[in-house]
Amino acid sequence: MGAGGPEEEETSAGEAAKISLIMELRRGGIKSNKVLSAIERIPRNAFVPGAFAKQAYDDHALPIECGQTISQPFVVAYMTEKLQVGDRMKVLEVGTGSGYQAAILSLLCRRVYTIERYRTLMRDAVNRLETLNLHNITGKIGDGALGWPEQAPFDRIIVTAGAPELPLTLVDQLKVGGIMIVPVDVPGRPREQQLVRLTRTETGVEREDLIPVRFVPLVEGIARET
Ligand code: SAH
Repeated sequence: MGAGGPEEEETSAGEAAKISLIMELRRGGIKSNKVLSAIERIPRNAFVPGAFAKQAYDDHALPIECGQTISQPFVVAYMTEKLQVGDRMKVLEVGTGSGYQAAILSLLCRRVYTIERYRTLMRDAVNRLETLNLHNITGKIGDGALGWPEQAPFDRIIVTAGAPELPLTLVDQLKVGGIMIVPVDVPGRPREQQLVRLTRTETGVEREDLIPVRFVPLVEGIARET
């Protein structure tokens, strides 16, 4: 109790920044209280390299290891809302990155399976998720475009890297009625994607175009690291 040292001040500054981010997301059109409270509960500062911790609650993407990025909070909130995750669901994420999106999902569903092509990123992500006591997330190193056939079918799939085209292999791993959200490259517009929501039906898929986004590319194969 009492005056509080520098650490305590920093924490409350972080809390204030977090609250204003939540308000900004609401103003931006995020309506789901479940999604907003997941964002409130997961400390984004724990998912960015130390030098960027002060910007953790600004609404923009930030660099992480291996030349990758942690997505913009609005995009995380938007994709999570559009994914319509239920608490009994099994969700696949392609592109673990920092582990932040997986952490948000883990509060909203039964189990998250997440695939990353960089060992370094997966190792760091697993450490963060363990520190936060999030135990319903399983990660593997691999090419996420191939999905996770041993765990399929999934209720939901979220791809957090820009796919050159609709990843049909992943559609096959969705349950009927299942939903996938994926950023898909726009021809002639480098580094920009169209966020697409696919719903698997008895006979095929329904496609809905959402907003334009910017993700790092989905790259084939496991990354070679030095
Ligand atoms: N969801 C992440 C952000 C992802 S950035 C977060 O919350 O921080 C995209 C990630 O996808 C990068 O880490 C990149 O290495 C990874 N990636 C790209 N292509 C991939 C592939 N084919 N399989 C698995 N991961 C891939």
